Amino acid sequence: MNMHCLLPIRDLHPGYVTLSGIQKKFGAIDAVHNVDLNIARGEFFSLLGPSGCGKTTTLRLLAGLEDLDGGEIKIDGQTVALAGKNVPPEKRGVGIVFQDYALFPHLSVFANVAFGLYGMGKADIKLRVEQMLDLVGLQSSAQKYPHELSGGQRQRVALARTLAPCPSVVLLDEPFSNLDAELRDALRQETKEILRASGSTVILVTHDQEEALSLSDRVGVMNAGRLEQVGTPYDIYHQPATRFVANFVGKADFFPAVLQEGLVVAAIGSFAVEQQLAGVREIDLMVRPDDVVLAPENEGTGTIVAVKFLGGDAIYQVMLSDQTTLHSQRMSANLLPVGTQVEVKINLPHVVYFPR
Ligand code: ATP
Repeated sequence: MNMHCLLPIRDLHPGYVTLSGIQKKFGAIDAVHNVDLNIARGEFFSLLGPSGCGKTTTLRLLAGLEDLDGGEIKIDGQTVALAGKNVPPEKRGVGIVFQDYALFPHLSVFANVAFGLYGMGKADIKLRVEQMLDLVGLQSSAQKYPHELSGGQRQRVALARTLAPCPSVVLLDEPFSNLDAELRDALRQETKEILRASGSTVILVTHDQEEALSLSDRVGVMNAGRLEQVGTPYDIYHQPATRFVANFVGKADFFPAVLQEGLVVAAIGSFAVEQQLAGVREIDLMVRPDDVVLAPENEGTGTIVAVKFLGGDAIYQVMLSDQTTLHSQRMSANLLPVGTQVEVKINLPHVVYFPR
């Protein structure tokens, strides 16, 4: 048992956890198809995607709870899974926090956290559990039982229990989805800080884009068993590689356009572009609502046809004179009513385009 495993270790070279062409089928369903991924030591990585895209199966393959059909998984240079050869879950040094926390109801907080520490002396166990409860801020709750704790506290016990044996990789399976919105926000940040402080390499599975974007060093977006894009939260949002990623991560409007001689020509305007797509003429422009600026103007080409008030921001639906509609997200302090004529300006350097 390494008692120093709380020291943060961050290694910017990807390759601590490597998935090479991993495959998993359930009958005719390609749950995970040819996925390649390199995760660095100490990285917080999220697998993001809609229900059924294969993210939980990927996590279970990493944990050793499912057998691979093809490809290879390595952790810290050691092969842990290969078709026909699987290191059992308890020998992979991987810890999981499940959606429902899976605490033992009849054991105290102390005993829950101590659960995975078999083989250690009593004094070392006590020290380690105290260290863990200190890390998650539950020193005074050691003798309580799970039913005496709030949802957030139970989640922190689950985290402490997972971290206690010093796993080399921590897997989080939608750990915040059972919490109400306010608690969820606070707990996400708290969990990130605890995991950072412990130096863990983390792989989080979530369908919640805000969660993935706000917590992660990098995000992998999955669709129908495939990884569509891996990148920083900024790149995933601002430079989506595919229409699926653009649609799934954040809101977007798409407009047909043509690409000719370095110019994009669309109903929403024409502008010069640097990037050429070889042999492509018909494209779709993607415009994020935060890149659409509105200014009230009697002679403006747009009319506000709907307003959705979100608190700090409002989302306007705007119809242009040629009946095209698009969305604009602006601060709501000077709320514009439905019917306002507006001039519409688009932050063109942010526009992304895809071949049709
Ligand atoms: P969710 O967020 O709903 O859990 P997910 O992205 O995690 O979705 P998976 O649970 O990995 O998706 O499932 C991927 C595909 O594999 C789905 O079509 C699912 O129905 C199927 N699948 C998963 N586990 C099994 C299983 N044990 N037997 C048969 N099919 C399965």
